Amino acid sequence: MNSTFVSQAAANPVIGYLDSVGTASVLYLESLWARYYAWVGSDFLATGLLFLVIHEVVYFGRSLPWYILDRTKILKNYKIQDKEIPDSEQLQCLKDVLISHFVIEAIPIFGFQPICNIVGIDYSANFPALKYFLIQITAFFFMEDTWHYWFHRLLHYGPFYKHIHKQHHKYAAPFGLTAEYAHPIEVAVTGLGTVGSPLLWSYFFGHVHLVTVITWVVLRLFQAIDAHSGYEFPWSLHHFFPIWAGADHHDDHHKFFVGNYSSSFRHWDYVLGTETPSTARKHTFLKNTSVLDKKKK
Ligand SMILES: [Zn+2]
Ligand SMILES: [Zn+2]
Repeated sequence: MNSTFVSQAAANPVIGYLDSVGTASVLYLESLWARYYAWVGSDFLATGLLFLVIHEVVYFGRSLPWYILDRTKILKNYKIQDKEIPDSEQLQCLKDVLISHFVIEAIPIFGFQPICNIVGIDYSANFPALKYFLIQITAFFFMEDTWHYWFHRLLHYGPFYKHIHKQHHKYAAPFGLTAEYAHPIEVAVTGLGTVGSPLLWSYFFGHVHLVTVITWVVLRLFQAIDAHSGYEFPWSLHHFFPIWAGADHHDDHHKFFVGNYSSSFRHWDYVLGTETPSTARKHTFLKNTSVLDKKKK
């Protein structure tokens, strides 16, 4: 532990108290983690089940509030597109996503544990230091966003769009559940960007713990579902953190079918001029013009 922090903690009773609560919480979670792996009795099954349950709970748990908002219309003034999604469409999407989760995504989910062993991802009951945790999650966000930008752009190329990516564009006005509504090849390619980032990091730099990977996957699910929510609020993250993409950015991609290819951030689309005209016009203070605008002239 940092010596400056230790001396601050000793001098400041509030910092000292928070530090002791934090340490006790981590110790409790570590013992819970150890007991879970011992209870299942197989590391392969324990990791696979953990990923499967967390994926399902977070995916549908995070999509539910958006569905409730759509049905109750209590925040309809914040809907980006004035389009009602019938229950039949939501139900069809739900069925397709469930099939994808249990038939396609279950395979890599249960194949993750052996890969952890190959690249050296730690899953012991010794949780990572906060600095590794924060640095790595930040890095995973930028790594995945770069992967997503280029592969998503490629998926908009002629035959790739026609035979693969068109499925994800079925809904011009997206809703939360559509985040993972995609062709199996697209699920595999975009999924590789999400899990590939920690695998690459662990292989080259080490010190990656499974807890960091799980937290990253949960945050990535929140990002993807929220980007498809169809809602833009005055308190949406990109108002305070302008590089963040959010629903405002991705909804335009579904509406116009081209442009805004990134997942979490805006910099690739801005720098490479692939923002949709409506997104680019919001940057009038930077006098940016989308190449999509120029092509139109
Ligand atoms: Zn697309
Ligand atoms: Zn989408």
